[in-house]
Amino acid sequence: MTGETTIQGIPMSELADRFGTPLYVYDGDSLREQYRGLRDGLHPAMEMFYSLKANPNVAVCALLASLGARAEVSSMVELRTALAAGVAPGDIIFLGPGKSRAELEACLDEGVFALVCESFGELGLIDELARERGVIAPVMLRVNPSFAVKGSGLTMGGKPRQFGIDEQQLFDEPDLVKNFPGVRVIGVHAYMGTRILDPEVIAENARRIIDLAERLANRLDFTLEAVDVGGGLGVAYFPGEPDLDPNAVTELLNPVAEAFHTAHPGARLLLELGRYLAAPSGTYVTRVRYVKTSMGERFAVTDGGTNHHMAAVGIGSFVKRNFPMRLLNRAGGEAAPWNVTGPLCTPNDTVGRNVDLPEPRPGDLIGVLRSGAYGPSASPVLFLSHGYPAEVLVDGGRARLVRRRDTVEDLLSPQIRD
Ligand SMILES: *Cc1c(COP(=O)(O)O)cnc(C)c1O
Repeated sequence: MTGETTIQGIPMSELADRFGTPLYVYDGDSLREQYRGLRDGLHPAMEMFYSLKANPNVAVCALLASLGARAEVSSMVELRTALAAGVAPGDIIFLGPGKSRAELEACLDEGVFALVCESFGELGLIDELARERGVIAPVMLRVNPSFAVKGSGLTMGGKPRQFGIDEQQLFDEPDLVKNFPGVRVIGVHAYMGTRILDPEVIAENARRIIDLAERLANRLDFTLEAVDVGGGLGVAYFPGEPDLDPNAVTELLNPVAEAFHTAHPGARLLLELGRYLAAPSGTYVTRVRYVKTSMGERFAVTDGGTNHHMAAVGIGSFVKRNFPMRLLNRAGGEAAPWNVTGPLCTPNDTVGRNVDLPEPRPGDLIGVLRSGAYGPSASPVLFLSHGYPAEVLVDGGRARLVRRRDTVEDLLSPQIRD
């Protein structure tokens, strides 16, 4: 027993030696557990859509797709990724406040399940593009609800937002559907926030969004074929935060789904999940380069930092709280507070402040756990030109590279000297 952290029996030091550091490692078993842990108990009428924004790696998406996950995408490359991962076009929705003409055209040409429309202007463009093609575009209206829910890391409803169309504006347009003959309004979407850790809030969200969808369908006179209740299910990162219990979620959510299913047989009910599915699977692995002290504090300077893990700076909080971190390659001795910092030339490149760690030595590996969501793709990977880290998926007891790290050539070649 060396006290070394392993993934599916593979020591982290072996992965670091084989693939280099800094490195993201994703555990396929964890992705499966998160997906199935919720899916198995969830009402069959409720479909799980994976939000690629959380982790757009095509191998991660393909693993989730193989389990039955559908896809929620927000860019051309996310759309292509979902398709390459094996998600059927009819199980993809596309949303985002600033969709391009090319993105909308690709959605129509691929035949995605729905375009989630976020403004009257966009509705006009979708209508124009559909009529040019001689097709009818399936559209879900994204609503900015008048209400907000408590208990989310980021409140979306009841505030001026660039997302969706204000509830009131939609109720003021009873003829909206008739005005756009190239569009078939099939449903309603709302997303109330992220990092929700209270099952009551999740169920209440769904109930209120379904109620809003029914009222809108009546007012605008369309048949409700789909309701997307958003999601925003969280995972615990910080001390004292409880993880969501999937059984507690389904116990409260399933009656809501059942009532919807009874009232609208055949209509689709969508739940979007990004962080919840991806976060627990990932570990950001860095190697300690130097250790030093400054004015009484200890610093471990590692080869990767906030350039790959911006979320470690702090999520929705003015006070920095640390992600769970540990020494990966050995158990080590007594713990003391260490600042874990990266290679960037800014004091903000602090991945962990006063983290209790056994004394690290140069060459040791430090891991940031629960880092499978909003990692490199949500970080300034080009800052100081370090580029994208390598990504590895461990599945079936085998590790394989699922994204190679950027090379100097990758970073220099798109630039034009003269
Ligand atoms: C970001 C986002 C998601 C995913 O959120 P998570 O909190 O990671 O589950 C889902 N839907 C919409 C509309 C989003 O913007």
